[in-house]
Amino acid sequence: MMTHSDPSNSFIRNEREAKIAARADQLAAIFAERAPKHDLDGTFPFENFNELRETGYLALTVPKQYGGEEASIYELVLSQERLARGDGSTALAVGWHIGLLKQLHLSGACPEPLFSELCHEVVNDGLVMNELASERATGSPTRGGKPQTKAVKVDGGWLISGQKSFCTLSPILKKFIISATMSDTDTVGSFLVEAGEGVEIIETWNTIGMRSTGSHDIVMNEVFVPDRHLIRGRASDQLRKPVPTDGNMLHIPACYLGIAHGARDFAIDFAAKHQPNSLQTPIAELPNIKRLIGEIELDLTTARTYLYHTADRWDKEVDNRAELKIELGVAKHVATNAALRVVDHAMRIVGGLSLSRAFPLERMYRDVRAGLHNPPMDDIVITNLANRALGK
Ligand SMILES: Cc1cc2nc3c(=O)[nH]c(=O)nc-3n(C[C@H](O)[C@H](O)[C@H](O)COP(=O)(O)OP(=O)(O)OC[C@H]3O[C@@H](n4cnc5c(N)ncnc54)[C@H](O)[C@@H]3O)c2cc1C
Repeated sequence: MMTHSDPSNSFIRNEREAKIAARADQLAAIFAERAPKHDLDGTFPFENFNELRETGYLALTVPKQYGGEEASIYELVLSQERLARGDGSTALAVGWHIGLLKQLHLSGACPEPLFSELCHEVVNDGLVMNELASERATGSPTRGGKPQTKAVKVDGGWLISGQKSFCTLSPILKKFIISATMSDTDTVGSFLVEAGEGVEIIETWNTIGMRSTGSHDIVMNEVFVPDRHLIRGRASDQLRKPVPTDGNMLHIPACYLGIAHGARDFAIDFAAKHQPNSLQTPIAELPNIKRLIGEIELDLTTARTYLYHTADRWDKEVDNRAELKIELGVAKHVATNAALRVVDHAMRIVGGLSLSRAFPLERMYRDVRAGLHNPPMDDIVITNLANRALGK
């Protein structure tokens, strides 16, 4: 009987992290059962979000003073990586929510008492949030395009009109933050919008990967937003020193690495059991299969080490966070590209059966593709590295 070891367990450093990891593992096991059906139908996993709510997962990054767990970035990465082993779509979707709460906490952009109200809604009512910045005309907001969504100043607030694309979590978003060009200053601000009159979901999300993230379009037609829901864009913002918050974006590489780890587990289990009658041993004993397993371990070990090391540095080096931006990008580049290779190698191990819809590998293969199109994009990471080397 072969025993498998999991080197990722060594990234759990204390009892609190062990609890965070155990909850994510339990949820991942449940979500893995449901993932094939949601993937096939392209449906949103509402029941997963009920469990994320019941287990307190939604409040992972809510500050302790508002009843949350106030997870560090390291803990966020640990939890998300393990959750994604069961279902990448659910992990990416909830990752935007917990990442946004962490970002709002660190940046202080969301004025009190609005931030505490939102946190209480997350803790008590299971509110799920997201930031919607992408539009068809701008492409990725990281490229600096100006939103076509407009915020027109009116008495006591703003009227928001426009269309956002890639709106992950759209089926359950009661409140979300959008970027818009402001009519009075022609600058870009962000606003907290509530679902309801004037807000419509257009079901555009029909993709090959991450099919259950509910990333449809959202159209806003003259939606009134009170002044107090302006998150960024006040004249006083110009005077404040910006606080780096990008550590939250490590939920992205954590998710894709988690999907890859799920593929690794499946392939190793398969290799340990599968024994065609031409062989005296399971295929795991064959040199060609061992080589593929070893290459998977190499990719996972290097990507995971860099990811967790970066998360830990980000938590600890508070005054150095602006400098760590490039490292965050490297962690994302390394993890998402490693994830593509790992799933590919896992499928080569399993062989023709890896193509079967009865197994999770073909879903994982499609899901990891999406990592390339989440920020920061590969070319930006590489350019930043080159510029740093050139002293720019
Ligand atoms: C599963 C998933 C979930 C997502 N969820 C969200 C969400 O919740 N909220 C949200 O706001 N967004 C979300 N997004 C959108 C994401 O952040 C990007 O905006 C989106 O994927 C479009 O990025 P793009 O690079 O394809 O677009 P584009 O910017 O249009 O790029 C298209 C192509 O042109 C190239 N290109 C464009 N501009 C430049 C440039 N200046 N220099 C060099 N090359 C360039 C790109 O590299 C790419 O090859 C999600 C995306 C995915 C895949």
